[in-house]
This record gives sequence, C-alpha cells and structure tokens, in this order.
Amino acid sequence: MSEPLIRGAESDDDVDALRARWTRERKARLAAEGIAEKATRELYDRKGDLELLEAVANASNAAKDVRSALKVLVDAVCERSGWPIGHVFLLSRDGETMVPTGVWHLDDPERFAGFKRITEASTFTSGIGVPGKVLESRAPIWIKDAKAEPNFPRAQAAEGVGVNAAFAFPIMIEESVVGAVEFFSPLVAEPDDRLLGLAAQVGTQLGRVIERDRHTREIARRAEELSRYSTELEHANDELKEFAYVASHDLTEPLRTIAGFVQLLKQRYEGQLDESADEFIGFIVDGTERMQALIEGLLSYSRTGRSELVTTRVDLNDTLNRAIGVLAASISKAEAEIEMGELPVVAGDAAQLSRLFENLISNAVKFRADKKPVVKIGAIEKGGAWHLFVSDNGIGIDERHRERIFNVFERLHGAGEYQGTGIGLSICKKVVERHGGRIWVEKTAGGGSTFMFVLPGLGEAAIS
Ligand code: ADP
Repeated sequence: MSEPLIRGAESDDDVDALRARWTRERKARLAAEGIAEKATRELYDRKGDLELLEAVANASNAAKDVRSALKVLVDAVCERSGWPIGHVFLLSRDGETMVPTGVWHLDDPERFAGFKRITEASTFTSGIGVPGKVLESRAPIWIKDAKAEPNFPRAQAAEGVGVNAAFAFPIMIEESVVGAVEFFSPLVAEPDDRLLGLAAQVGTQLGRVIERDRHTREIARRAEELSRYSTELEHANDELKEFAYVASHDLTEPLRTIAGFVQLLKQRYEGQLDESADEFIGFIVDGTERMQALIEGLLSYSRTGRSELVTTRVDLNDTLNRAIGVLAASISKAEAEIEMGELPVVAGDAAQLSRLFENLISNAVKFRADKKPVVKIGAIEKGGAWHLFVSDNGIGIDERHRERIFNVFERLHGAGEYQGTGIGLSICKKVVERHGGRIWVEKTAGGGSTFMFVLPGLGEAAIS
C-alpha cells in the first residue's frame, strides 16, 4: 500500500477535506490580520489626531499672540494630513469680508508662490470662494477638485500650481465665524470625515485663542484709556485748583481796598447823610465782610489741597488742646462743656489735624440747641484704624443733608440764623481724605450730631 499524500489522510477524500480546511483557515487568518492591521492603523490615526489636538492646545495656551498660534496649527494640520498648503483667513472688523492673514504653511514655497500671491491679493465676501463658503455655511467644507469648482475664483492660479483638492474649516467664537483655515492638495481627494471632525474641534479651540486675544487687547485698550482720562483729570484738577487759588488771591486785594474805603466812609460820614444812606453803607460793609470771609475760606480750602502734607508723629491730645485754645472765646461765650477722652498718637499733619478739630468743635458749639452745649471728643480703635468722634447735643442734621454738607459753600441755614461760609466741613473732608481716611456724620443718641472720621493705618505702628 502506497504512503498517503498527506500524513493522516487515508484517502483522496481526506486530502480534499484537509485542503478545504487549510484554505478556510488561511482566509480566516488573513481576515484577522486585516482587521488587526486596520485597527492598528485606526489607533495610529487616532493617536496622530490626539497629538495634533494636543499640539494645538499647547500652542493655544503658550502663544504670545494669535498669529503664532495659527501658524502652529496650520503646520500641525499639514504635517498630520500630508497636505502641502495651508493658509488662514480672518474676518474683517465689519464682519463682511474674509481677509488673508499671511499665515501660511507651504511645503514647497517656490512651487506655490503664484497661488500665495493671488491669495494674498484676494478678499472674499460671504458665499464666495472657499473662505466665503465657510463664512456662509459656518461648517467645514470639502472640495474634491477645486479646478472643477465653478465657485473658486483662484482656480486659474490653482491650475497653474496643480492644486486640486481643498478643505477648509471655520474658526468659531460661540456661534459666529471669525476666520477660516484652508488647505489644498495636488491630489483629487475624497472627503475625509475624520479630518473634517478633527478640523471642527481645532476651529473651536482657535476661536478661544482669538477671543482671549480680543479680551486682552480690549482690557489693554481700556486700561490705556483710563490712564489717559486719569492724567487729563489730574491735569484739569490741578488747573482748577490753581485757578481757584489765583482767583481768590487776586480778589482779596481789590476787596481790601473796597472794604477799607467803605469803613472810612462809615466812620467819617455816618449821621451826616440821610438815614437811607447810612443803611446802605451798613449793607456794603456787611457784604464786603461776608465776601472777605468767603474768599478767606476759599483760599484756606485751596491751600489745604495744595500744600504738601507734612507727616510727623502727632499726639492728638495736644492737637485737641491747641484747637480748644484757639476756640476758647467762643466756647466760654456759649458756656459750652467740653468732654475729652483719651486720643491716640498718629502719623499725620499736625496743622491740618488741628484745623479739623477746630472746625468740628466750632460747629458743635455754633449749631447749639436751646440747652447748654455739651461737646464730647474721643477715639475708638476698630480693626487697626482709629475712629475719632466729635459729638454734640445741638440742632442735629436731617438725614437727607448728611452727605451734601461736606460740599464747598453748602449750608443748611441762612447767614441771619447762624454765621458761616459753608467751607469748614469741606476743609475737614479734604484733610481726612488727604490722610487716607473718610468722614461722615451720624445722629447723636438723644439728639444732636456726631461727626466721625477714620484715620486708617496711622496708629503707633505707622510711625515707627
Ligand atoms: P459753616 O459752619 O460755615 O456754615 P460748614 O461747612 O462748617 O459751614 O457746615 C456746613 C453746614 O452743615 C452748616 O451750615 C450747618 O448747616 C451744617 N452743620 C455743620 N456742623 C453742624 C453741627 N454740628 N450741627 C448741625 N449742623 C451742622
């Protein structure tokens, strides 16, 4: 008996069966290899996509400006896809036209020079050409063969350089297109869904870069505008201060002459003219005196703002005693009672702080009610700052006037009721604000007013 052709095969039937099995197994193995190869390729593609997205994300975060982020993106997509031309259009400010940016990827700059030149000389409105189509559709587009595309104005140049397939995607900020990135290839290529999907993600990411850049520019523009306004304001303010000072200063001289001669007129001729003339002269004397007081007040206000703040260690107890000394006559005339608490030592301008106390205490005595004036002065430490107060039991201040009394010339009473110029509190405000603090008024429990002011960070610690 002859040996079987294939070991284990006893007959021709067995051989056929074995051959068929071998063929089936080979097919199955080939199919499995095909699937594995496809899966590996897809994995590689996916890995490449992720690397591209990562490169774009890194470029987006690191880019010092939009152009460098765009350049990284165009290079990355060209490298990833193998397409040799990439270019970016951005939408014009008026939102009408896609304008070339000069951001390119060109594998072979010499070969594509003509196409680049024509592109850079072109702008596209909605619906026209590749960028216009992206602007209109707000979605990626794919053109298999640009030369055969009627809506491709650069066709002529494209033909010259052998450009065929094109794909482009929008750069989006929220729902709006702000630019388009276009790519060209010398091959006629079928749409690649993976590439288009990838492009959409990249477009959104680039939109964020542009948006961030716009915000940064806007912030810088506003900051610059603000600093310009602030300089202008400072300038205007200085001029105004200068004007107020010069005007008040120059007014004092002629006014002094008028006051002097009117006084003379009164002394020499009082009783010699008729009764009305004496009355008129009296009005002129009053008027000039009031005007002198006003101008003196204005000058003093103006000086408070202009003079250099001389900061030294100031014991406010001494400052207060000095102020009370200055006001001694009016305090004793009003038979006012002054209650002094312990005051702190602060860093400040002694002369200005003394002026502050003088103004507040003189008001506290002046705006008295029917009872004997009682003025209390003291200090409370709150959160590292000194809250000082001057409170009285006087006529009080209606809540709706509590802010405006600190304005220059603001008075709640006529000169007939209480004498004054309406400048004292505006000087107080200026002094406190120049010391970095604030001043306000509250109602004293049981009636009257309590003026409070804060001198922040001017405690003992600030002096050492
Ligand atoms: P003047 O005392 O010269 O009128 P001020 O600027 O010092 O000017 O004060 C402005 C106004 O605020 C005063 O005319 C008065 O109506 C009100 N005022 C100030 N201090 C007191 C006070 N202690 N009690 C009541 N009213 C006050």
